[in-house]
Amino acid sequence: MCEWGNTVVLDVPPTTDIRFNCDESKPKTRVTVDRCLAPEIRTLWHVGIRTTGCCCGHGGSGFIGVVDDDIPAMELLGYEHAPHPTYPERRDNFIPKTKVPDGISPPRHWPQL
Ligand SMILES: [Zn+2]
Repeated sequence: MCEWGNTVVLDVPPTTDIRFNCDESKPKTRVTVDRCLAPEIRTLWHVGIRTTGCCCGHGGSGFIGVVDDDIPAMELLGYEHAPHPTYPERRDNFIPKTKVPDGISPPRHWPQL
């Protein structure tokens, strides 16, 4: 989630197990994501991908993070790896397929999900 004020809160489907980063014993039931990425994230959840975080990039480079066990599934879905800014050896970040025009923040009137 980012500080751009253009996010939506999504209900995590019961079939997708997403855990809190700080206390992994508790499943998340709601997640805040950038509005423009919401359809893609919901689609990934629908096929069982467990996301760990995401950002559309707001005209820059975005990412979708997934749990390590779901990296092969993301590769099968045709996702390309995104470089991790802090740990270059990590392979759990992927480039979103949702394209936001360069230099444009997603408009606030994009559909609420
Ligand atoms: Zn963002």
